[in-house]
Amino acid sequence: MRFNRGKRYTYYSSYSHSSRSRIRWDRIAIIGVVVALVIGVAVWFNFDRIQLAIKGYSFDQQNQILALDGDEVDEILSHDKLSHISQWIEQSEKVQYYDEYEQYLSLHKDLEVENVISTIDEIFDNYVPKLTTLNYSNDQIWEVLKTAGVNEVKHLVDQQYTYAQIEPFMKVKGFVFADLDKYMEVYAENQNYNYAVLITTYPFIISENQPETSYTIQNPDDVLTLVKKGFYLSSDYEPSDLVTPDPDKVKVASDCDDSRLRKEAADALVDMFEAAKQEGYDLVINSAYRSYANQKKTYDEYFDTYDEVTAASLVAEPGASEHQTGLGVDLTCQAVIDDHLNGITNSRFGYKPDYKWCVANSYKYGFILRYEEDKADITGIANEPWHFRYVGKEAAKEIFNNSWTLEEYCLNKGVIPDIQEK
Ligand SMILES: [Zn+2]
Repeated sequence: MRFNRGKRYTYYSSYSHSSRSRIRWDRIAIIGVVVALVIGVAVWFNFDRIQLAIKGYSFDQQNQILALDGDEVDEILSHDKLSHISQWIEQSEKVQYYDEYEQYLSLHKDLEVENVISTIDEIFDNYVPKLTTLNYSNDQIWEVLKTAGVNEVKHLVDQQYTYAQIEPFMKVKGFVFADLDKYMEVYAENQNYNYAVLITTYPFIISENQPETSYTIQNPDDVLTLVKKGFYLSSDYEPSDLVTPDPDKVKVASDCDDSRLRKEAADALVDMFEAAKQEGYDLVINSAYRSYANQKKTYDEYFDTYDEVTAASLVAEPGASEHQTGLGVDLTCQAVIDDHLNGITNSRFGYKPDYKWCVANSYKYGFILRYEEDKADITGIANEPWHFRYVGKEAAKEIFNNSWTLEEYCLNKGVIPDIQEK
């Protein structure tokens, strides 16, 4: 660059020295003004065409566009680039919706262009004016269009649902427009938006409803993970932080082959056992972590021994046991162990004061009694007075105060695992 500029300077210097006196400045000025005027007029009358050319439209495309109404040309000129809009120009005459096409496509990237065009044409010609009458703002309409197609929008209009009515449902994980009427029905009964959406989408959370679809849990490390028939842990899931509770502080039954729990649950269990001890109770771990393989082995053994229905009621399917989370623990107490040693074979933890203490106090340490006698239709598991589940102190307290199962907690609070269809 520098070299070129120097060269030009040399040339200019020699020229100006020899020819300066001959230049007719007045004539040059007049020619300059005329040229500028001609260019100016040309630009003025071709301003749209020049802009289109800059955006990358061919001469033929420029002609097609310039044949449109002024508003439509402005609409096209308001877009950044040809690539954004050329497909709409080719396939739709409704220039006024080009922005809407682009926006809808950006929200539904898997849709074909034709599909976007027919959807937006129908929604904006027929339903958006009615939604506006129902007081939907432009932002709210687009919030709806994030997941809605023609049928869903038509349904909103037919049912005259306002945005205020539908918004709380839309915020719940698992919401689909197709089930809106059902959500409204359930909501009318129990006034809880989370519950309405989740029980409609995943009815089997209440176990008396059999699952039609099975899901694999994607976030099994979450201490609130709901594991049950329908929501399964994958066969290779093993918590990474399993620890053996301090043996100086926690007794383990002689026939328990794995007393490990997740670190957080193990620490909480130590606290709980020590508090129990202070009040004269003597708790013992009967069973804690169980791998998928071990659960499968137990399940298969029950299957061989009993009929299918009985086996399924006695032992969880592989992947559906809380013991695989490292958060479930089966408890007993020294009094029961002593009874058994003394030949009292029908002695059970559920009859002992130690059990009653656990029912009344375990929530303070983050544990809940998981499978209660009168909740089997919800949990799908018959009475298990020995099985406690760690959920953390906050959730345990809320569950205890409301006399909820974990299922009812999840439904009311809108807590469900991240899942993927099996
Ligand atoms: Zn258990």
